[in-house]
Amino acid sequence: MPKETLRMCVACRQMKDKRSLIRVVRSKDNQMVLDKSHKLNGRGAYICKDKQCFEKCIKSKALNRALKCDITDDLMNEIKKNLE
Ligand SMILES: [Zn+2]
Repeated sequence: MPKETLRMCVACRQMKDKRSLIRVVRSKDNQMVLDKSHKLNGRGAYICKDKQCFEKCIKSKALNRALKCDITDDLMNEIKKNLE
């Protein structure tokens, strides 16, 4: 296992160490959930722990497109709390 696993932020499209990204997963019932453990199964997408990237991905609906489902207000608030 490599020490660094690079994933792409859906907002800025930069490759980063996944530990510095927030992972969002589409669950079996088509809900977007925040995956703090980075261990949930399902289709996942990553964004930087960065306010600008978060706002960009809300505006561009990048997460919605990546996961093919809609982000809820609750999840948006939860992600906001995890931004640095
Ligand atoms: Zn980013």
